[in-house]
Amino acid sequence: MSEENQKQNLNKINWEDKYSSWKDWKWQIKHTIKDIETFEKLLGIKMNNREKKEIEMTIQKFPMAITPYYLSLIDINDYKNDPIFKQAFPNPKELVINKYDMTDPLAEDKDSPVEGITHRYPDRVLFHVSNICSMYCRHCTRKRKVGDKDHIPNKETIEKGLEYIRNTPQVRDVLLSGGDPFLLSDEYLDWILTEISKIPHIEVIRIGTRVPVVLPYRITDELVNILKKHHPLWINTHFNHSREITESSREALRKLANAGIPLGNQSVLLSGINDCPYIMKKLVQKLVQNRVRPYYIYQCDMSEGLSHFRTSVGKGIEIMESLRGHTSGFAIPTFVVDAPGGGGKIPVMPNYLVSWSNNKIILRNYEGVITTYKEPDNYKANLCNLDCEHCNLTLNLDEAEEIKAIGIEKLLSDYDKAISFTPNNNERMERRNNE
Ligand SMILES: *Cc1c(COP(=O)(O)O)cnc(C)c1O
Ligand code: SF4
Repeated sequence: MSEENQKQNLNKINWEDKYSSWKDWKWQIKHTIKDIETFEKLLGIKMNNREKKEIEMTIQKFPMAITPYYLSLIDINDYKNDPIFKQAFPNPKELVINKYDMTDPLAEDKDSPVEGITHRYPDRVLFHVSNICSMYCRHCTRKRKVGDKDHIPNKETIEKGLEYIRNTPQVRDVLLSGGDPFLLSDEYLDWILTEISKIPHIEVIRIGTRVPVVLPYRITDELVNILKKHHPLWINTHFNHSREITESSREALRKLANAGIPLGNQSVLLSGINDCPYIMKKLVQKLVQNRVRPYYIYQCDMSEGLSHFRTSVGKGIEIMESLRGHTSGFAIPTFVVDAPGGGGKIPVMPNYLVSWSNNKIILRNYEGVITTYKEPDNYKANLCNLDCEHCNLTLNLDEAEEIKAIGIEKLLSDYDKAISFTPNNNERMERRNNE
């Protein structure tokens, strides 16, 4: 048999037959691939010594961990271009530090009132309940933290996070994240979810997880039965390429969807992996086929070690252009740039508004058709002075008096006197103050 043929046969390894515990998620975790030799042996490939040395150095800074399941998806005939390989296997380019790279680009630590909580938006918090992942994604924005054994949130840290949520009534949405929350034991996760559900002002819980992609066997009937008890519970997962949607991941998604859990997906735009309108269209179409609503496409963050994954923002806009109008509206995610420094997610998209006058707007559609929308002649906007009791509109808000406009919304409102925002250290203002 030629070497080529041998390789092809290897690629058709029936992993499930070869390893009887293949579908046991604990077995998968125990056999996570952490070194190059095992990787080479399992896939039947050989890297040269120089390559190996560089990769060793990379692993020392950013450890490697690949679940046997995810590894089995790699196409060994062309592994260097394979989207699974590129997301899982270290690349020496990770050691290149660019001028603009940051260790905490989203300032998650600065917006952290207590350890484990990031409180950035008015009504919702990110709660890091785990810093373990079944696989270390090479493009992880929290790369420096994941797997850091000194920062595994213990029960005491979780208690403190819960206490913060209990004492912060404006929080109505808690987003469990990590690491991966599904790497916690069923009992522990159940306890966290139960404690959060007990808090009267919490209206919804979300979980962000990559388990359906890299360890689908973790979605067991037992886990799903626990999750079901904590509705309304939403789950966001993280597929980046249609090749990741397999029989096993479909089964995991089916179980979650059948438990009545609304599913969303967040992708990251990655150079050489999914920076292509056709790949993205295929991905979002496959997702909705599996009852997953594409939620966000992220522009890759400026974290250290990610520069080789970054694309232009323009590539993302081009992808959005290729989706809107071209495929089902509910298959179209929002493309966002997570603002460096902690400004949160900022949506960006092609311009559809071409021009406007006093009472007409000019729009263009996905085909390039230019069209006119005539605004009503007699529209009288409701003046809002927050006197809801005497307003024509019916608003039955319990705490209407607490309405407070924030940001640009404030500039647009009738009832707030603000007419402009000026940055803190504006020179012109400083001159005025000095006069
Ligand atoms: C992304 C994120 C959220 C959730 O944002 P949504 O747009 O509501 O999905 C909340 N907090 C932080 C810190 C985040 O990064
Ligand atoms: S699952 Fe998420 S947190 Fe974990 S390594 Fe991947 S991207 Fe990072």
